[in-house]
Amino acid sequence: MEQQHPTLALEETAIQDLVSHLRGALLRPGDADYTQAARVDVIAAVNFAREHELTLAVRGGGHSGPGLGTCDDGLVIDLSDMKGIRVDPSARTARVEGGCTWGEVDHATHPFGLATPSGFISTTGVGGLTLGGGIGYLARALGLTIDNLLSVDMVLADGSFVTASAQEHADLFWAVRGGGGNFGVVTSFLFQLHPISTVYGGPMLWPIEQAADLMKFWRDFILNAPEEINGWFGFVTVPPAPPFPEQFHLQKMCAIVWCSTAPLEQADTLFQPIRANIPPAVDFAGPIPWPVLQSLFDALYPPGLQWYWKTDFFTDLSEKAIDLHVKYGAQLPTMYSTMHIYPINGAVHRASTSDTAFSFRDANFAEVIVGVDPDPANNERMIQWARDYWLALHPYSAGGGYVNMMMDEGTDNVKAAYRDNYARLAQVKATYDPSNLFHVNQNITPTR
Ligand SMILES: Cc1cc2nc3c(=O)[nH]c(=O)nc-3n(C[C@H](O)[C@H](O)[C@H](O)COP(=O)(O)OP(=O)(O)OC[C@H]3O[C@@H](n4cnc5c(N)ncnc54)[C@H](O)[C@@H]3O)c2cc1C
Repeated sequence: MEQQHPTLALEETAIQDLVSHLRGALLRPGDADYTQAARVDVIAAVNFAREHELTLAVRGGGHSGPGLGTCDDGLVIDLSDMKGIRVDPSARTARVEGGCTWGEVDHATHPFGLATPSGFISTTGVGGLTLGGGIGYLARALGLTIDNLLSVDMVLADGSFVTASAQEHADLFWAVRGGGGNFGVVTSFLFQLHPISTVYGGPMLWPIEQAADLMKFWRDFILNAPEEINGWFGFVTVPPAPPFPEQFHLQKMCAIVWCSTAPLEQADTLFQPIRANIPPAVDFAGPIPWPVLQSLFDALYPPGLQWYWKTDFFTDLSEKAIDLHVKYGAQLPTMYSTMHIYPINGAVHRASTSDTAFSFRDANFAEVIVGVDPDPANNERMIQWARDYWLALHPYSAGGGYVNMMMDEGTDNVKAAYRDNYARLAQVKATYDPSNLFHVNQNITPTR
């Protein structure tokens, strides 16, 4: 990350001046509600931070692993009260304000039998997930979240308000589709919706001893399956709770979590090769309302856990890479820790590597190795595991990772995440945020 602005002592009169321009509350250390979300007027807050050279953070859903939705000794624009969602069922679009979560979007669109590609957990913020790309259950069928983004309303570093789309500020619209929060505060997103209501999906589990065979089967299946089928691979520890059968509680197992948007009557045929060739020990796949699938794992990952993640994209899953996965997957350090591989072929490949800031359009898989636990005492152990696992696999990767699943890893890893798009991103950054006001993110250095 870039050097943060120094903290300046603020005059009380300047603070009161800001308060007089806000419709919501300004919360400060010592105020009773300081830890609660505050709604601030975005333009006034951006101007205030710039004029007073404050470190400025922008919080959408608060799911950033390295905590990039907040900062110490600076100003946080917390969008979490901006919850407006307007669905236009005839145009099949949704206008979504910057503080919404994906669960809230599903809640608004599902009554119309509509949805847009998001992620795998409904508590994640629309803001950060979308701006980094958005990899989810509908990726093979409908692309990344950004591939379904029609426009954004934004407050820029100079306090101006713009709409960016393919027609207006096209350079900015290119950059926000993968470039994260580098370019301004997105106050609302306009998404294309699709007729998605009840899908066929859910988890299947296999004994970890079958990991190598299952990974090979899954790799070949998902590279060739119809685009309507998605299924991510994971190493998991089975939670000690229903609906999981007791004999598997706390066992390390392999999982594939499916989501098929093909007509339900085709599901048995589509899933027959899996059930016949490599029968799962636990099979929960079946018809399921989209918002239920999307929120299936919410309770497993409540707020307040310690997170450490490492990521890479892969074009291929070689035999050697699979051997390494088998080794490290068997060593999950805590019950919450996991490794996921998300398929990003199919519709994700329809855009080219330079069509949006998200550059890994030629990769087939996104890997995330996640050390998670409630107890900070386990941090060292789970961080070591995640680093060792990532280091072992990295030589087989496509060379960079997904910005939404990186820690605060510095400029080289940000450059690796954007590859050839980095230089263009740096130019757009220089146009819209030349002084790098928005630097609490996977930061792109403004360069002409
Ligand atoms: C439990 C969990 C599950 C996840 N699942 C998925 C998944 O399935 N697919 C996937 O692609 N990713 C997933 N992620 C990663 C997720 O996309 C990123 O953590 C993302 O940054 C979270 O966005 P947020 O708005 O919740 O976070 P925040 O911490 O609020 O923000 C993250 C970054 O985005 C910026 N930002 C947020 N909103 C705005 C805005 N409106 N305008 C400008 N900048 C903004 C912030 O400034 C910050 O830099 C998951 C993360 C977690 C913790």
